[in-house]
Amino acid sequence: MIKQKQDWKDKLVESGNRLTKPREVIFEVLDSNSEHLSAEDIYLKIHKKNPNIGLTTVYRTLDMFFSFGIVDKFDFGDDRARFELNEKYNNKRHHHHLVCNICKKIFDYADFTKEEVKLCKLSELYLSKKFKFRMETHVIQFYGVCSNCRKKESK
Ligand SMILES: [Zn+2]
Ligand SMILES: [Zn+2]
Ligand SMILES: [Zn+2]
Repeated sequence: MIKQKQDWKDKLVESGNRLTKPREVIFEVLDSNSEHLSAEDIYLKIHKKNPNIGLTTVYRTLDMFFSFGIVDKFDFGDDRARFELNEKYNNKRHHHHLVCNICKKIFDYADFTKEEVKLCKLSELYLSKKFKFRMETHVIQFYGVCSNCRKKESK
């Protein structure tokens, strides 16, 4: 785990960027939360301990992390970009998302069925041949209505 954390720091430093306190703090928040945080969420989480880090810094840092592939950026349909550490920098396993269109909750799941794994592998293989594409990763999101919201619907 320590090695992984070293990686992202190396990545910044190798590309001529300094490792600043805000960058470390923001990475730590992403690393210690399993949710998919927006810039505002991150700002609120760090504000008490780090009143010097403004929302603009959070935005800039996230943009920078994104450009280095340290974070993945998602649009789950609520007009807020959400961030999660990229698999390479995260202790989370490769996972897919279920996104509820009503409460906007995001469910991570990694307990794939054999069929799903097979389908992903076959699709990657097929697409890489068809487009002469070197496949590196994929992001899969399913949108719908979660069980909680469905209960409310039926009331
Ligand atoms: Zn997958
Ligand atoms: Zn829901
Ligand atoms: Zn996720």
